[in-house]
Amino acid sequence: MSQLRTRFAPSPTGYLHIGGLRTALYSYLYAKKNNGKFILRIEDTDQGRYVEGAVELIYRTLRETGLTYDEGPDVGGPYAPYIQSERKNEYLKYAKQLVESGHAYYCFCTEERLNSLPSVNGARKYDKHCLSLSKEEVEKRIAAGEKYVIRQNMPTEGSSTYHDVVYGDITVDNSELEDQILIKSDGMPTYNFANVIDDHLMNINCVMRGIEYLSSTPKYNYLYDAFGWERPMYIHMPPIMKDAQHKLSKRNGDASYEDLISKGFVKEAIINYIALLGWSPKDDTEKMSFEELQSKFSVEGINKSPSIFDPVKLAWLNGLYIKEMDEDTFRKYAQPWIEKSKLNGKFDTAKLCALIHSRIETFAEIEQKLDFLVTFGDYDTELYVNKKQKTTVEQSREVLPLVKQAFEKLDGDSWNNQNLYNALLQLAMDKGWKNGQVLWPARIALTGLQSTAGGASDIADILGKKETMRRIDYSIKLLSKAK
Ligand code: GLU
Repeated sequence: MSQLRTRFAPSPTGYLHIGGLRTALYSYLYAKKNNGKFILRIEDTDQGRYVEGAVELIYRTLRETGLTYDEGPDVGGPYAPYIQSERKNEYLKYAKQLVESGHAYYCFCTEERLNSLPSVNGARKYDKHCLSLSKEEVEKRIAAGEKYVIRQNMPTEGSSTYHDVVYGDITVDNSELEDQILIKSDGMPTYNFANVIDDHLMNINCVMRGIEYLSSTPKYNYLYDAFGWERPMYIHMPPIMKDAQHKLSKRNGDASYEDLISKGFVKEAIINYIALLGWSPKDDTEKMSFEELQSKFSVEGINKSPSIFDPVKLAWLNGLYIKEMDEDTFRKYAQPWIEKSKLNGKFDTAKLCALIHSRIETFAEIEQKLDFLVTFGDYDTELYVNKKQKTTVEQSREVLPLVKQAFEKLDGDSWNNQNLYNALLQLAMDKGWKNGQVLWPARIALTGLQSTAGGASDIADILGKKETMRRIDYSIKLLSKAK
């Protein structure tokens, strides 16, 4: 086979959703694996659904995620233009060629007539009414300025079979194939027509797309055959579900790449997770860098069955990527999240980062996980009772004033995590307590919470002496009233 050429052909109708990004990813990986080319084509023939800014978002997302296209609207290439609206004039020429050869025909039917056709399972099938119009009549009506579309003339009997790499041989009854519109009354081609013309003209020999196109593909194959063009190889991908019943779909506003970024996921984890939505490597590895994806990807690993978008698994994977970040990288990501939280400007960023780095799965958790640093007040003193740490309310009442005394001795530079920690351990030793019998009440006294990121000394270090002392005093008071 000549050089492999795959394409990603999104319609600029809004955010780049997970399904679209997966198509782009698989098409990219498959092309690269085979030393082929990956092409971006913008399918904007449905002007009614065009969303301002969507094209730029597609470019940006592909660039950001490393899905670099070899040819595309903004990078050019030998088959430019790569935006369908800029290729508008091409399509009519090809449609007319099909009319000449009897594979397509002009149709003048009005909305009204189309709406009066019998509906079968909610769909009205066109009845080939205009197929019988003579050439002269067609010309006369066009000259008179009548509105028309051009329809594909489908066979009505027999069946059509083609091979899909994932789903095997697909057979569709020709009676199910509609005389689909190729050119609309505004002169624009439909997606159904333009994708075939462009795939051929752009030399695309491998078409990868969502399973929703599986049953339309025979219609496209009739177009290839009518022109005498070679059909591409087809790779349809399994649906991505929200749950067992519902598809993850952009129309009902489900996750887009941008949404995930704004929820605190990192692009490496998103791409890694998306790769697993419908594909797995032979060795079943789950965490894979972009380079590993490139070396492990194979179409044999694409599953037929639907995959469920599982936010919990994505978060788990994201957590692994966060944990392996070095300090600087973590800080670069965490900084904007800290800045837009209530923590902003109140604490030392490096200390906050050290405290939280190993304890979050997404950056969005920072604010909630560290909220105790800015929020402190009445809490249940039962928290001092901890069987495992052997602490009680009574014993904590004895511990806290001593913690206060120990902390009093530290100040300025000596007020640091290590010294604070040592002071607590020293206290335990002096009194013959277990470490937990000091550490547990000290941490509760500073946070009023059963569990927090970090221990008493980490927290005291970040809070600073004044706030630490205020909280200990508050807790001593609270305990004095407890039973
Ligand atoms: N423009 C179509 C879409 O966004 C592309 C389908 C295809 O890849 O052929 O769904």
